[in-house]
Amino acid sequence: MSSDVVVAIDGPAGTGKSSVSKGLARALGARYLDTGAMYRIVTLAVLRAGVDPADADAVERVASATRLSVGYDPDRVSCYLAGEDVSAEIRGDSVTRAVSAVSSVPAVRARLVALQRAMAEGPGAVVVEGRDIGTVVLPAAPVKIFLTASAETRARRRNDQNVASGLADDYEGVLADVRRRDHLDSTRPVSPLRAAPDAVVFDTSDMTEDQVIAHLLELVRQRSGAVR
Ligand code: C5P
Repeated sequence: MSSDVVVAIDGPAGTGKSSVSKGLARALGARYLDTGAMYRIVTLAVLRAGVDPADADAVERVASATRLSVGYDPDRVSCYLAGEDVSAEIRGDSVTRAVSAVSSVPAVRARLVALQRAMAEGPGAVVVEGRDIGTVVLPAAPVKIFLTASAETRARRRNDQNVASGLADDYEGVLADVRRRDHLDSTRPVSPLRAAPDAVVFDTSDMTEDQVIAHLLELVRQRSGAVR
């Protein structure tokens, strides 16, 4: 495998994107960059500051003063806000509800996109996961993948995960949330969620995670012209 291959993986929540991106990074021995985690850290800072996520000016002020960092390890995504480990807290409900509003603020995106570009630089291969990686963050990435799955499939997967982790069984509620987030993410004026024209689109509805990873590994091998 070319040692510096850059793989951009985009798509909506519930496509298995995170597990697949981590699995691919492991298989390639690559660094893994979770850009959603960065938006989540800024969102946590906004909530802790008592700011309304819909107040773009106030969100911008908090975001510009936020010190954040994320690690590259696919086996442990370490997320820090001003030096504090917030890896678990950013996955909570309050952050999940507010993150779309925060990530639609152009100044937040500008700051995080710059950070993501710097973090994706070599040396070494990297798998970068997000919503706008192939379109905006790394438009020159040699491998671009866009994962999709039906809203129902994505809601079912997430509801199953919720139940497995002890949360309530609420398929209809999860489906409504999936649709709400899809709508917000695909209609925002800055960096809407869409596949890059040169991305390979994969529908994961009827595939297992391992099958998707195997397909993607093959694609990366073809595109980077080398085998590790
Ligand atoms: O990937 P994850 O679900 O953790 O992302 C949380 C949210 O962050 C998404 O719903 C989206 O609003 C935002 N996001 C984004 N651009 C990215 C990654 C995430 O707007 N590149």
